[in-house]
Amino acid sequence: MDRRIITIDGPAGAGKTTVSKALARELGCVYVDTGALYRAVAFEIRCQHINWEDSAQLERFLACLDLDFVMEGREPVLTSSGRDISAYIRTHEISMLASATSAVPQVRKALLGIQKSIARERDAVFEGRDMGTAVFPDASYKFFLAADVNVRARRRFEESNASGISFEKILEDMVKRDSDDTRRAVSPLKQAPDAVLIDATALDVFQVVEKMKRIINGVQTRFSDQI
Ligand code: C5P
Repeated sequence: MDRRIITIDGPAGAGKTTVSKALARELGCVYVDTGALYRAVAFEIRCQHINWEDSAQLERFLACLDLDFVMEGREPVLTSSGRDISAYIRTHEISMLASATSAVPQVRKALLGIQKSIARERDAVFEGRDMGTAVFPDASYKFFLAADVNVRARRRFEESNASGISFEKILEDMVKRDSDDTRRAVSPLKQAPDAVLIDATALDVFQVVEKMKRIINGVQTRFSDQI
């Protein structure tokens, strides 16, 4: 692969987004949030009242799906049929629906092309669940960001304070989402054998990004970083 592609996979709430954005900024490449694609599918399924368990109906829906990343500075903004839908895809309901629908092979297949096409054009940091395993097995550098589930749920709770959802509910749903993402048959969430595991439970964003940069710049070997 001639482009520099860096993959960051891991469970929800491990800090992937903040870390990926910061790393992309430091390296001068673009940041791509692939979770947004799965959220966009869930959002459109919800808006268009699609019965996604009906495979023929889902196939027709996916054939008409028009998702695109439009560059705004270094950050590609996701559009659906030309509309910026970023403001609508971060709800709790969409998180759960995205996790359920992302297990459907047709959905994953439909989103593969758009992810690969960005990587052909630009150096990028890709954040997701299967970046290092299924989408970019030849990536230049691969990281798997983990953190204790209670810490992850606490972060999400603090981020979504205004939503009125209790910490217990966020924790319960995070455990379910982790379990669904890890156990699904197609492209499950798992660490690629050649990915560097970073446990961010007790680290802040700066420390995680520094570790990644040291590995990318060859200052630290991937093996001395396993926790
Ligand atoms: O990363 P984020 O939490 O926004 O992702 C939403 C959902 O999309 C995840 O729970 C996961 O089920 C799915 N996803 C995926 N593969 C990716 C990125 C996200 O299955 N590469």
